[in-house]
Amino acid sequence: MIEMETDTEKTSIFSLDFATLEAWLKDHKEPKFRAGQIFDWLYKKRVTSFEGMTNLSKDLRDKLANNFNLTTLKTLTKQEAKDGTIKFLFELHDGYSIETVVMRHDYGNSVCVTTQVGCRIGCTFCASTLGGLKRNLQAGEIVAQVLEAQRSLDEVEERVSSVVVMGIGEPFDNYDPLVAFLKTINHEKGLNIGARHITVSTSGIIPKIYDFANEKLQINFAISLHAPTAEIRSKLMPINKAHSIEKLMDAVRYYIDKTGRRITFEYGLFGGVNDQREHAEGLAKLIKGIKCHVNLIPVNDVLERDYVRTSKEDIYKFEKILKAHGVNVTIRREQGHDIDAACGQLRAKERKDETRG
Ligand code: SAH
Repeated sequence: MIEMETDTEKTSIFSLDFATLEAWLKDHKEPKFRAGQIFDWLYKKRVTSFEGMTNLSKDLRDKLANNFNLTTLKTLTKQEAKDGTIKFLFELHDGYSIETVVMRHDYGNSVCVTTQVGCRIGCTFCASTLGGLKRNLQAGEIVAQVLEAQRSLDEVEERVSSVVVMGIGEPFDNYDPLVAFLKTINHEKGLNIGARHITVSTSGIIPKIYDFANEKLQINFAISLHAPTAEIRSKLMPINKAHSIEKLMDAVRYYIDKTGRRITFEYGLFGGVNDQREHAEGLAKLIKGIKCHVNLIPVNDVLERDYVRTSKEDIYKFEKILKAHGVNVTIRREQGHDIDAACGQLRAKERKDETRG
């Protein structure tokens, strides 16, 4: 019955990673190989009902329908920028809404997913945190964003080739669902997106960096650093008071040691705050000896915030100083400006009934 499948009291079937689904099947006296068939229906054929999983027994289809729902996200708006970037506003079952962005490059399409409704980290330059945290997303709600993006790309016969966990929310503040999501999109029977094409970014919740290192996923990992010193970082990112820059660097070293992977430091340039020669030199010193790459982000306007964007000329100067110190550095290409889809501009929306009265 369709009503059962959208029943929000139930767990989203998209929240179960492959191993968890296998375990569920075992508990329900079903053979393990059914997990492959179910994943095929969910992620390759992308069915919208359990009834449609025609190679499963009627009994198993009923069991699935009795236990799970097939999360769907309602598209409230879909905006397209001049550069092809698409921004979706999706409504969740409880009336909250979230934003998801698809960036189009000549080398493929990248989806930027949201992990929470709002955010409690409080970075002083970011729109996503303005209303605080409303709730965590379930893994299935994160997976569903990629599925919806893929459905939209199906229309032009293109595929999602990479995923960045850089939308609304702090992924490490919603850790287990994040990891389930990563496993599912990476799984060959899931969306089969290669680990090297998946990037997670964190504001730096230190214990979770250790946990994440121990997952030994071969994904790309980015840290929002934004400052060379504790003093400046605390002003930009209050999280630095509880999770200090020194301890952050220790965690990063541990991560690199465990995974063998190079990490990325994101560094937004805020005019007069962290964009001077001394800051570039301080940054080079701070990260000396760490296997990393620095991504400079020209700050994006957030209506409620009055940070100023560093001039192009000064961004190049900053880059040059880092290069002179042997740092691997790039400047982030900007996309989706005209539809407020760039870094730091995504917002979670309140429940419709509250805002519209
Ligand atoms: N919470 C995670 C994921 C967000 S990723 C994190 O903090 O890493 C989004 C990236 O955009 C982060 O590096 C964030 O610091 C940065 N960002 C936020 N607001 C911005 C703004 N106004 N201009 C430029 N970058 C911004």
